[in-house]
Amino acid sequence: MPPCPSCGAALETSWKFCIFCGTALTEDAAAIPSAIRPEQAVAVRSQLDIPLLIGIALGAAGAALIVYVAIALFAPR
Ligand SMILES: [Zn+2]
Repeated sequence: MPPCPSCGAALETSWKFCIFCGTALTEDAAAIPSAIRPEQAVAVRSQLDIPLLIGIALGAAGAALIVYVAIALFAPR
């Protein structure tokens, strides 16, 4: 297998993509929708990180609020 035409990295013959830069190495690979290509996967993951963290933070805040209300309602006086 020749080196990657895009970044020049050494490639394995079994690879359909360069694992370093995501360049498609076969025509079959080039035909695969870009959504599942490595560089696209990384971009999607980084876009999802902030909403995911906000969701986790809101979930934690909601759980804390539930615990606080339960303690306020049911704690012995
Ligand atoms: Zn490459």
